Amino acid sequence: MRRSFSADEGIHMGQYDTSREQVVSVCRALLERGYLKATEGNVSARVPGQGAFAITPSNYDYAKMKSGDICVLDHDAKRLDGTRKASIEAGMHAAVYAQRPDVNAIVHTHQPYASALALVRQPIPALFDEQVRFLGRSVEIIDYAPSGTSFLKKRVAARIKSGDNAFILANHGVLVLGGDTERAVFNMALLEKVALDYLLALMTGDKVSKVPAPIREIAFAKLRGDEKKLAKQLAAARAAAEAPEEVPVPEAEEVPAESPFPPPAASGFATSSGAQLAGYAISAYPDVEAVYARLEALVGQHLHPVKRAAMDDYLDYFETKCARSKELTDEARDFIPGGVQHNLAFNYPFPLAIEKAEGAHLWDVDGNRYIDFLQAGGPTVLGSNYAPVREKVAEVVASSGPVTGLFHEYELKLAQLVNRLMPSCELFRMLGSGTESVMAAIRAARTHTGKKWVIKIGGAYHGWSDQMVYGLHVPGTWRFEARGIPFGATAHTREVFPNDLASLRRKLQQNKLLGGTAAVIVEPIGPESGTRPVPFGFNAKVRELCDEFGALLIFDEVVSGFRLGLGGAQGYFGVRPDLTIFGKCITGGYPMAGGVGGRRDVMASFASGIGGKSGERAYIGGTLSANPLSCAAGYFAISEMERTNAPVLAGMAGDRLTAGLSDIIRRYRLPFVAYNQGSIVHLETSGVMLLDLKHPLRLARELKPRQHMMEEMGAAYTANGLITLAGSRMYTSMADNDEVIDDALERFERVLASVEGL
Ligand code: PMP
Repeated sequence: MRRSFSADEGIHMGQYDTSREQVVSVCRALLERGYLKATEGNVSARVPGQGAFAITPSNYDYAKMKSGDICVLDHDAKRLDGTRKASIEAGMHAAVYAQRPDVNAIVHTHQPYASALALVRQPIPALFDEQVRFLGRSVEIIDYAPSGTSFLKKRVAARIKSGDNAFILANHGVLVLGGDTERAVFNMALLEKVALDYLLALMTGDKVSKVPAPIREIAFAKLRGDEKKLAKQLAAARAAAEAPEEVPVPEAEEVPAESPFPPPAASGFATSSGAQLAGYAISAYPDVEAVYARLEALVGQHLHPVKRAAMDDYLDYFETKCARSKELTDEARDFIPGGVQHNLAFNYPFPLAIEKAEGAHLWDVDGNRYIDFLQAGGPTVLGSNYAPVREKVAEVVASSGPVTGLFHEYELKLAQLVNRLMPSCELFRMLGSGTESVMAAIRAARTHTGKKWVIKIGGAYHGWSDQMVYGLHVPGTWRFEARGIPFGATAHTREVFPNDLASLRRKLQQNKLLGGTAAVIVEPIGPESGTRPVPFGFNAKVRELCDEFGALLIFDEVVSGFRLGLGGAQGYFGVRPDLTIFGKCITGGYPMAGGVGGRRDVMASFASGIGGKSGERAYIGGTLSANPLSCAAGYFAISEMERTNAPVLAGMAGDRLTAGLSDIIRRYRLPFVAYNQGSIVHLETSGVMLLDLKHPLRLARELKPRQHMMEEMGAAYTANGLITLAGSRMYTSMADNDEVIDDALERFERVLASVEGL
């Protein structure tokens, strides 16, 4: 997520300086976006728990602004700290902080479209639900009073009682409030957009249609509810910050009897459960509550990074043993943005260049061997570069080439195989990637239902299409990653916090009043491949809610499909989705991995000219989609997974790895958490993935240091011959026999034994 200020600096600089930094970075964001010029406007942020706020100085160039230039005042606008003269509007800011505990940041700018409405004295009625949800019932004009006077302060104090977050000052720009700095900037941009739309609508001379009053009230109640919740959380976070007591880590004995960490069997794999015997990778479903308790305890702790001396040794490995990788990836920086093409590529201290992959191992260009727990991000349950599939694919390519643009028998064979293994997929359409397939599924859901809203779970990843870069990675962050994506593209996307069925129901209810929800899309094992695992019964409950509200249920099985078992997560949980997204395993690690399967009537949206009428279909395409290479690769890889029982074998390797890691964690009394869903293994050491906007201060304070620790852990593992996904996740494969896992555990122990605080 984009950050509004540097958290790790903030920790050391104290609360005044943290708020000052926030103000500086808001100024920068506003300058970058063209909302502030030189000395126009002013910005402030509350200093938590101090009856104070930090505010920009008077008549000072925003481009030059540094933290030391920011003034700190109390709620009577008296100076507490700083050398410059505070903004002339400090009284107005002070009035807001004194009266509105829900407000933690204020932006006052002279933006043109809202200012134009000030000139014609036109308040903005409720036009869009997003507007009401974030800005309030309406955007009122605050009567004219000269800048910096007590008249203006009084008028502002009277108006902000409404609970709204945006106001137009007659002849004087806008005043926008937010629960945090990001929200204040967002609200300011939203106000300008709404003002522009309203001006344009007024200019047509036609009647301007407004949000109906009952819907406006629901949306406004939501705004107040959210803000009250946020204010409470901020208060709790402040209290926690003032008394930095460590949250105790539950002792191993406190972990409930049905612990997700079975001890390693004396020899060979842990005993298979019924699920594994039935072809699924999960031997015992994690005790989700116990996992969250340990994760919460982990994020309540100080960091336990690798000791500096050991880390220096690990970093030295890269310098001395990975010279050719460094040379290549340095050069790549001149030709490739950031020097690497892939989000999963490890960049710290620099990326490795890989030359050879086979089974459980990778070799870099310097000849170093690694145990490969990245497995390309999940598609290779058979292990990397599995020869029997490669040979079959080569035969097909030798005969038809990789692509002809015409039908090939393997398209049919793959569709039949998917249908047999996941009967919910009555029809199957092959595409180029998971991202594309999510786009297609949403389009089909909207076409079929005639509704427009889509609800996702916060933190989940469903590819990078415009509409899905919303609440990405960190729950509750809405559009924070949506650089370059217009508001309209995410206008009908909504997110709910993970595992929050009550909130999902509320969203479905709200959407019902606004035309209805086309689809709810979930990663059935939980957001980010189970980083926030779902309780076992969650998916069935989501299914019930979808049925109640007439929404389609989309399972994004890009990761879980075939890896969790040949029947996917839907087979394991026994829940039938309307549509399923495929990626990764659908081609066994070969290119163009994507597809949508599902109900015949919904999938019919993709057929050309439904009922003879073109124009009714949901348009999708792709020159290389469903090419012979991808279809044959998928068909042979999945068939081979079925023949060898690969998902279960990979799951047993995941169990053994998790059990071993948990044992190390116990023996060294570390606060870290290891758990797995079959062959998807999580090892949380920094807890960064568990931060969210329910705890905004913690997020602001801790995101960067925790991210950095995760990066260092990843580098430490690599230097010890272990490739992981982002230093916290591992995919196991059929190639991970006992010997490989035991070797890996020895290497993990070396790293984990070198962390601080032991
Ligand atoms: N959904 C999920 C659950 C994923 O994990 C991913 C990729 N990691 C995608 C969608 C996007 O797939 P692709 O990278 O093929 O576009």
